[in-house]
Amino acid sequence: MSTENRLRDRIADLGRSLFDRGLTAGSSGNISARLDDGWLMTPTNASLGRLDPARLSRLDADGRLVSGDRPTKEAVLHRAMYEERPRAGAIVHLHATHSAAVSCMDGLDGDNCLPPLTPYFVMKIGRLPLIPYHRPGDPALGDAIRAHACRHCAVLLANHGPVVSGTTLDEATNAIEELEETAKLFLLLRGTPTRPLNEAQIRELDAAPPPEGRGNPGS
Ligand SMILES: [Zn+2]
Repeated sequence: MSTENRLRDRIADLGRSLFDRGLTAGSSGNISARLDDGWLMTPTNASLGRLDPARLSRLDADGRLVSGDRPTKEAVLHRAMYEERPRAGAIVHLHATHSAAVSCMDGLDGDNCLPPLTPYFVMKIGRLPLIPYHRPGDPALGDAIRAHACRHCAVLLANHGPVVSGTTLDEATNAIEELEETAKLFLLLRGTPTRPLNEAQIRELDAAPPPEGRGNPGS
């Protein structure tokens, strides 16, 4: 099987897994993967739970549709992230409940909107910038993402949800799941005195060889 066909099947498998576990609902959420000469992207109005690998949007290097259904209306999120992260092989965007809930909270730190509660979050995501609210389809959202994506593999869109890149599709999916779990912990612990990792503990993780995720420059 060709690399492209393997990727098509993997996008459909991961989409179904994310949907079946309630990590995104309805026709929300989208997935893309880089090819040598363009991208595969999930189509507009498609449920991640019922993707047909043969109908995924196939885009050329300029982002033009070559085959398959029309791409997600949120293609701009993906393009902006890929432009700033040349080694990113895949991007996952979800309207996952807990991350979306955090994205609606007032008073978040715009430079880092979730605390470093676990080492896994620090290793896979690191600092998570909050991108100010933009209406769906606003081209200015791409610029807002580009301003942060060169330094961060993940961003949280205000009143919306997370966008996460990885060197591979599985890596991006694992990282966005870690982000969602940390958002859940953050909400569970609200009102409870908590002890996030301290600066020394974060430096120790930063110095260790990263297993995957943000440790891959540009992913
Ligand atoms: Zn969205």
